[in-house]
Amino acid sequence: MLSFIRSDLAQLKVYTPHAEENLTSTQESIKWDHLDTNESPFDLPEELKQKLALTYQKEIQANRYPDGGHLALKRAIADYVNKSAELSVDAFNSTHVSIGNGSDELIRSLLIATCLRGEGSILVAEPTFSMYAILAQTLGIPVVAVGRSPINFEMDWQAAQTVISQSPNPPIRVVFVVHPNSPTGNALTEAEISWLKSLPEEILVVIDEAYFEFSQTTLVNEVLQRPNWVILRTFSKAFRLAAHRIGYAIAHSELTTVLEKVRLPYNLPAFTQAAALTALTYRQELFQSIPKILEQREHIIQSLKQYSTLTVWSSAANFVYVRLNQQFVNNQISLEKIYHQLKSKGTLIRYISGGLRITIGCPDENARMLTRLDAALKHFLGAGLSE
Ligand SMILES: *Cc1c(COP(=O)(O)O)cnc(C)c1O
Repeated sequence: MLSFIRSDLAQLKVYTPHAEENLTSTQESIKWDHLDTNESPFDLPEELKQKLALTYQKEIQANRYPDGGHLALKRAIADYVNKSAELSVDAFNSTHVSIGNGSDELIRSLLIATCLRGEGSILVAEPTFSMYAILAQTLGIPVVAVGRSPINFEMDWQAAQTVISQSPNPPIRVVFVVHPNSPTGNALTEAEISWLKSLPEEILVVIDEAYFEFSQTTLVNEVLQRPNWVILRTFSKAFRLAAHRIGYAIAHSELTTVLEKVRLPYNLPAFTQAAALTALTYRQELFQSIPKILEQREHIIQSLKQYSTLTVWSSAANFVYVRLNQQFVNNQISLEKIYHQLKSKGTLIRYISGGLRITIGCPDENARMLTRLDAALKHFLGAGLSE
């Protein structure tokens, strides 16, 4: 370890989101089915790419810094948020929006703004999106994790409440939840929502709605009355723009002002801003892929339900989560082996918290995934057990 580096960073590993980065050279030529990162399987339509190329040619000056205030994009986002939640046109405006280089940047900005200097810890309910804990650790911020129901993945909010009432040092300053949760696909329940509403104003409640366009369920209207709530969204999923890195936060302007203070001045490249504006303008066209993905999701869920070895949950997002049926646990099959088997055939999925998270891909990818999963289950279980 370099002697000038913070000692707590020694235990952290570099985050490698794409599993194929760890592959041997003989595997590099495989054409991968990426069912592991919850992106849309559909690229931008050709005409939109051409429009963007033209914008780059005619409007963007490569030698100039981009717009550091993002005003046009903030306005367009506020308008989208109002319309998609059926709120009045002026419910949210540009002052309620802060835009990040992916919502990952906003998560980090929120952590910097709340917990640094030993002033706070964060609370998460696992399994959940790993980035909250990873980013907290890079900043030396303690992470308190509670569990979830193994039946419906509702967070153990009673345990969370106990932690908070024991006044840990440093205190819990932020609770992160995903609505619907990743990797488990469940939306927040009424009980979870009322617990979140009961939290005192000294605790920031972060509701990550990365999958809003799939779930069509949002708590954004709560932000109007709650200065300690913030909604995070992203262009990386239903908007089909993961390559461009855009996420946004919706909150009271006092909070967005702090987010603007701590971010880097030119965090959004000019081309990224242009891409997000174009995607918002043509969102009706982009969102035509959503019903197709939801239809495929139901097809996959029904197919997986055929296996008595598996438990598959319903999902409000563009992925599904499965675990081994309780009676097959300890039966020397592991889903980790099945994950590796699929990977060796070219289908990348995630093995998380003892289960498999499978992103809904295009119909070809999904069909290959189901065939490969069927073969893997038969291989590890014997044909008799798998159906
Ligand atoms: C995919 C995802 C994001 C998106 O992050 P970006 O940095 O905007 O790409 C955020 N939160 C959750 C829970 C996600 O699954």
